[in-house]
Amino acid sequence: MNDFQYHNTTDIRFGRNHIDAELHDAVAQFGNKVLLTYGGQSIKRSGLYERVLKLLDGLEVVELGGIAPNPKIDSVREGQKLAKDNDVQVILAVGGGSVIDASKVIASARYYEGDPWDLVVKANGADRMLLPQLPVVDILTLAATGTEMNFGSVISNPETEQKLGTGGPQSPAVSFLAPELTFTVPANQTAAGSMDIMSHLIEQYFDKAPANDVSKGLIEGLMRTVIKWAPVALDQPDSYDARANLMWSATMALNGIVRSGNQNGWTVHPLEHELSAYYDITHGEGLGILTPRWMQHVLNEDTVALFARFGRNVWQINGEDDQQVALEAIDRTEDWIENLGIPMTLPAVGIKDEANFNVMATSAVKVGQLQTNAYVGLNVDDVITIYRESMKDWQKLS
Ligand code: NAP
Ligand code: FE
Repeated sequence: MNDFQYHNTTDIRFGRNHIDAELHDAVAQFGNKVLLTYGGQSIKRSGLYERVLKLLDGLEVVELGGIAPNPKIDSVREGQKLAKDNDVQVILAVGGGSVIDASKVIASARYYEGDPWDLVVKANGADRMLLPQLPVVDILTLAATGTEMNFGSVISNPETEQKLGTGGPQSPAVSFLAPELTFTVPANQTAAGSMDIMSHLIEQYFDKAPANDVSKGLIEGLMRTVIKWAPVALDQPDSYDARANLMWSATMALNGIVRSGNQNGWTVHPLEHELSAYYDITHGEGLGILTPRWMQHVLNEDTVALFARFGRNVWQINGEDDQQVALEAIDRTEDWIENLGIPMTLPAVGIKDEANFNVMATSAVKVGQLQTNAYVGLNVDDVITIYRESMKDWQKLS
């Protein structure tokens, strides 16, 4: 196990009875000038928008709507201006990962004089860790990213065809996790969100740090939970049990607990961020396509024991032969993803040719430091091979 520091102050309010009773004070504790951020129409359709406005009665509210999936730097720029012009004291983010991610960067941009893209790429001496950050309160409406209890954001810049992660000094101050708000999440987003959770778990399970059984054991339990409940949520969108298990798994998967003591080299996320940057595809769908191909590519004599452990402890596969169990585990993973209804090839999400493979692979290797940090080191050719394999239908391994 590696050395680590774990510090996370997000105040979680989970369940049915927190929002109406506590939202007003949770926001007002930071001041009465509020920036309310949200995405498209989903919170208006569900009635959540009206409900939140009523609860904020008495506070001064300015709004930034229209934050798109794969949130764009332009939304952050707009939020920066609104926050400054109105001397905002707290941000209330209502939505999925995209809304919350953008809000966290707006919270830093409030205290930055230049263009907030500097904060994402650390240009012109900009460093979010050295800036204050407005407190962010959020109401999560989609179980997926874990942003509700972590320090990260992922922001896209269509002009430069980049989608990059950025970390700030604060995780959200208060996160309201009310599973019934996710009853209205459509099937494709439920599937993509569940895949995102599963991918976060996989990326942290296949890790180079020695003997981190705490991490592995926690992750195996969370994986079994997601594997069990995602299909139930798809079948019965208003199953509170399914939505609650997915929501808390999402938070637990990426609030830093399961990765404590790890080396933390991620692979599939950097590969996927390139796809989203160039083609604006849904994050969880890109992960679903890439994950089995990455597994197949990195299975070798050094990794087979961990893949076999994954097969036995997560997929409950019996068998003596590690290689056979590993291959079956990869097939079972592919099968589960496909059964969620995720399109399973790049052409199925509109990526029809290899035109950008080289430039995307080069960027992924650099941004993700894949040659040195990844569980199995990858170079540009390796990544191109994984993208190429993702063009074709899956052939069973076992
Ligand atoms: P999202 O992009 O926030 O939302 C996806 C779609 O779901 C939107 O169209 C949204 O519609 C809709 N939606 C959300 N809640 C809904 C509800 N309750 N009912 C009906 N529709 C609903 O999805 P996400 O998966 O949560 O976030 C994805 C982003 O997070 C990606 O950019 C990804 O790279 C990033 N990410 C961040 C982290 C992190 O740690 N910070 C980790 C992984 C991924 P509306 O716009 O109309 O609301
Ligand atoms: Fe993710």
